Amino acid sequence: MANMKATKVYHDADIDSSVLDGGKIAIIGYGNQGRSHALNLRDSGFKVIVGNIKDSYWDQALKDGFEVYPIDKAVELSDIIYILLPDEMQPNVYRQMIEGKLKPGKTLVFASGFNIHFKWISVPEHVDVVMEAPRMLGFGVREHYLDKSGFPTLIAVHQDASGNAHKTVLALAKAIGATKMGAFESSFEEEAVLDCFSEQGCYAGMYALIQKHFEIAVEAGYSPEIVVLELWKSGELLDEIRAWMKDGIFRQIKYHSHTSGYGSLTRGPRLVGSETEKQLRTTLYELQHGYFARELMMEFLTGETVFNKLVQEALSHPINEVEERVTKQLQAESTSR
Ligand code: NDP
Repeated sequence: MANMKATKVYHDADIDSSVLDGGKIAIIGYGNQGRSHALNLRDSGFKVIVGNIKDSYWDQALKDGFEVYPIDKAVELSDIIYILLPDEMQPNVYRQMIEGKLKPGKTLVFASGFNIHFKWISVPEHVDVVMEAPRMLGFGVREHYLDKSGFPTLIAVHQDASGNAHKTVLALAKAIGATKMGAFESSFEEEAVLDCFSEQGCYAGMYALIQKHFEIAVEAGYSPEIVVLELWKSGELLDEIRAWMKDGIFRQIKYHSHTSGYGSLTRGPRLVGSETEKQLRTTLYELQHGYFARELMMEFLTGETVFNKLVQEALSHPINEVEERVTKQLQAESTSR
């Protein structure tokens, strides 16, 4: 395979945090990532304020002891501004409440490459623009900070007006606790494309395959409950993924029976024929050339009709009813012990 070059990775000891001395950090959006980032940065000794609209998240931030401001005011009062709003909302909020307050010397931080790479947001040249994108759900960002295990994050610099943008993003990655595990040098493009490619490629294929597998097995007369149990409800899959993490995706085959290992390695490749490869390449092409980004923005602008319809269809598939039954059966079993 071409291009197997190693990526540069930074850990706590590589990082000089003095670039953040005396600076004030605003967290814009107190949701999944926003709350964890705010708490971690404050616990690391930095001055943190929150910018949000007046809603339940605003109240939560106050309860957590932060000074909370309308978004434009928080931007005005801060040196470093984390944009932790949903990606599809960012362009509007940026234009209406953030852009006008961006004086020289400020740094904008994104947790995703989406809006900068696909040019939904362009930032004046006098502002630093960096990315610190955790490969972790929001609650994990907090949990792994508290237990000091860290989590991987991707970092990148898009604009370096100050000459310090790289030092700043590294210092932030350390302050939120990521570099206990590692900050991986990446780019806005790489994050934007690869994040969506795994969601739309491998993970999306897994959902579709599970549904098709269920339909075929049930049609062949097998018990729907056992099919669901075999596929994921037993928890065996979870243990297998833990073994991928611990030993390696193929090295863990040693834990399986020979029947299982032989069956997987001989039958799996049949599923990835030329049609699957063609579809994966099309998905990547749509991402790389902005077709998906445009489709997504149109979808949100027109009230998410396609998304809502697909969620409804997925939730009305018979698999949900069977899954519910199996959940009850498993609970009944474990409480009667
Ligand atoms: P959330 O969906 O949790 O939303 C964050 C905040 O945005 C909430 O306070 C929400 O308040 C506010 N918000 C939503 N709409 C508006 C609006 N129109 N105007 C002002 N505020 C608004 O976001 P996430 O934390 O999931 O995502 C934030 C960023 O982090 C994104 O760039 C995402 O790609 C990135 N990221 C997320 C990960 C995750 O696991 N979730 C993982 C890695 C990166 P309200 O709903 O009340 O409006």
